[in-house]
Amino acid sequence: MTGRATLALPGVPFATLRGVIRREALEHGLDLHIDAAEEVSIATPFGTLEARALDDGAELALAASRADRLQTLKETVLDHVLDDLPVAHAALVWSDAPAATEPPPNFRFAEVRKVAPLGTTFLRLRLAVPDIRAFDDSALHFRFLLTPDGRALATSPGTAPNGSLVWPAEMPAPHRPVYTVRTIDRDAGLLTVDVFRHAGGRAQGWAETARPGDRIGLLGPGGGGLPTADAGLNLYGDETAFPAIARIVESASAETRGRVVLRAGAGAACGYPLVAPSGMEVIWHTGVFDLAAQALADRAVWPERAVWFAGEKAEAHQLRAAFKAEPPGRGAAQVGAYWTRAAG
Ligand SMILES: Cc1cc2nc3c(=O)[nH]c(=O)nc-3n(C[C@H](O)[C@H](O)[C@H](O)COP(=O)(O)OP(=O)(O)OC[C@H]3O[C@@H](n4cnc5c(N)ncnc54)[C@H](O)[C@@H]3O)c2cc1C
Repeated sequence: MTGRATLALPGVPFATLRGVIRREALEHGLDLHIDAAEEVSIATPFGTLEARALDDGAELALAASRADRLQTLKETVLDHVLDDLPVAHAALVWSDAPAATEPPPNFRFAEVRKVAPLGTTFLRLRLAVPDIRAFDDSALHFRFLLTPDGRALATSPGTAPNGSLVWPAEMPAPHRPVYTVRTIDRDAGLLTVDVFRHAGGRAQGWAETARPGDRIGLLGPGGGGLPTADAGLNLYGDETAFPAIARIVESASAETRGRVVLRAGAGAACGYPLVAPSGMEVIWHTGVFDLAAQALADRAVWPERAVWFAGEKAEAHQLRAAFKAEPPGRGAAQVGAYWTRAAG
């Protein structure tokens, strides 16, 4: 491990911290290596997180093999752990915080090399990414960094002592949508991303007008890694999940059994390319098909199979609630909210 950092959380009861970490582990299908009254340890695809009780509170310790992964872990901790604790974020300081603000190690500008339609509802972008070796097989996702009105970011962000990103003064709150690394060509330094052409999106709008030579800020990689499929795997998703599902089925062993249930406005006619092992049945649906209900119905038939789901936030919440009532077991379910329907 080359990256290590600790964070003191004075006044935070360890039991509260442990409860938040356990909940996140369950939600994201991660293993708790230690889960004791005074210590918790969890392995993520990006490194390890340990928490322990102190006399006056608690302490977090992170370890990762690279500085960019350590930064990704810090951002994950801020969003998923510290947000739910009684602490003032601004007062927190990681042990390795630099004296002066520096660009985050997980930020890079990529260069657009190619943009082309993929089927009827996607754009495929090929991006040249410096330090592409950071994107290994556990790196499923990254974030585009855009201005609030959807233009490419011109300046690199900085890093605050608590691990959060510091934005240029003229841009207090950039837009940071998550996208999936569809393919990685490490020798050529190229990454492929498939952007769903839904109406009114800022990243989607940027992609529609992107041209070779344009620069775009990327943050990451991040994400939960590929699901294990030893006892079978059922996957469910709408268009936003197609790139992740395509990558998962491509990397699954030829013997994998399961089903891939996809929902798209025009169904299979959208022409999104997806090649699954022969033991995985691929089923397309159109329109308003209830993916979460299908995932639950299939679970009753194949309780041994891992479940991977990604779709609209309300659907994801519905499925998570059902799994909370009847937990599928450690690592057996990953449920992602990939987009949020506008209110009204
Ligand atoms: C882990 C993860 C991986 C993802 N991978 C991909 C990927 O590889 N490709 C991809 O295209 N998307 C992917 N998404 C989804 C993507 O991040 C969202 O769709 C995001 O909102 C798109 O950003 P935007 O700037 O285009 O739209 P925004 O500016 O954020 O949203 C504008 C409007 O578009 C609506 N909108 C957003 N998504 C959709 C949708 N799917 N259908 C209909 N309306 C929508 C919103 O409700 C909003 O009203 C992923 C999301 C996650 C969490």
